[in-house]
Amino acid sequence: MSITSFNPPVRTLMGPGPSDVHPRVTGAMARPCIGHLDPAFVGMMDEVKTMLQYAFQTKNQLTIPVSAPGSAGMEAAFQNLLEHGDKAIVCQNGVFGGRMKEVVERCGATAIMVEDDWGKPVDPQKVEDAFKANPGVKLLAFVHAETSTGARSDAEALSAIAHHHDALVLVDAVTSLGGSELRVDDWNIDAIYSGSQKCLSCTPGLSPVSFSERAIEVITSRKSRVQSWFLDTNLVMGYWGPNAKRAYHHTAPVNALYALHESLVMLQDEGLENSWARHSKNHMVLRAGLEAMGLSFIVDEDYRLPQLNSVTIPDGIDEAEVRSRLLNEFNLEIGAGLGALAGKVWRIGLMGHSSRAENIFLCLSSLEAVLNEMGANIETGVALSAAKAAMK
Ligand SMILES: *Cc1c(COP(=O)(O)O)cnc(C)c1O
Repeated sequence: MSITSFNPPVRTLMGPGPSDVHPRVTGAMARPCIGHLDPAFVGMMDEVKTMLQYAFQTKNQLTIPVSAPGSAGMEAAFQNLLEHGDKAIVCQNGVFGGRMKEVVERCGATAIMVEDDWGKPVDPQKVEDAFKANPGVKLLAFVHAETSTGARSDAEALSAIAHHHDALVLVDAVTSLGGSELRVDDWNIDAIYSGSQKCLSCTPGLSPVSFSERAIEVITSRKSRVQSWFLDTNLVMGYWGPNAKRAYHHTAPVNALYALHESLVMLQDEGLENSWARHSKNHMVLRAGLEAMGLSFIVDEDYRLPQLNSVTIPDGIDEAEVRSRLLNEFNLEIGAGLGALAGKVWRIGLMGHSSRAENIFLCLSSLEAVLNEMGANIETGVALSAAKAAMK
């Protein structure tokens, strides 16, 4: 055997996630591992909870990171709230609504689907109609920022509809947290989950979640046990909970939590609203360059996400070859289209630490060089100056 240490290439990550990890975060991760019941560690956990409440804009006590990626946060939200025989309305306008359906059905519940085209937001009227047609729905679930398309849905309006029909509201905020306006308490969201690797500039592997008082009442008065032992919040709270004796539940991913702590300190120092504004501003800069080149956005401006840009591919261009040349020649990763958009768009992420000027200039200049070399019908020599002008 002659396998040696793994040294990954240094890439610029401008896909749908993971995004660039800030060096302060990787630095925090390299600090010494301590016991997960060490009082010093427990103190840090409390700070993580407080900073997550800030990031989510909530006073919810049950606001913690699940020790696994965003999909586990999704499972935690549905599995704790749904029981066998329950009905849930699930909105699908991209990949992740489809994943929600899978999870709902595995809980033994029925998923009533409300579908919208890929690239469009969830239509509140369709949700209202679904509630009218289906009495007794327990919860409404939707994706706030659909990473597979770049469309943002109106979480506040959808939440109001659900509460009007006495249902709980469950939101996927994996790509929105830290990147676009999100107000859990003001918008009356009952259960929400996110991920560490999108707009928080952190490494993958943790899923911040938050549950309202109303959601906790539903969880504590369940007739059946939560089918997952690991994700059962009643048990997890023995370790993470307020006033809990901090009993062993599972070994927390100690160094990963140092990383999340550091990324949340950075978010707090920048200011949440400043972070939202930075994501919007940089989107406008990238957009100016791409449009000058002749590429266009597939999502309407009114509900376009700043952190995930779905753009068209010039006629006759092999989109996969462009991505592999960007990766091999420029160490730049951008995303491919998924599902209904496969082969039709690139997804350029401007999330967290990736949302900064030098990344935009690298993306525009390398994309222009590759497309030009491949004979694409684009405007050359104008993207960088258009982007620079948009920075003012
Ligand atoms: C990335 C993502 C997920 C899944 O998160 P993982 O960390 O990959 O499990 C779920 N929902 C949305 C909207 C996402 O962008």
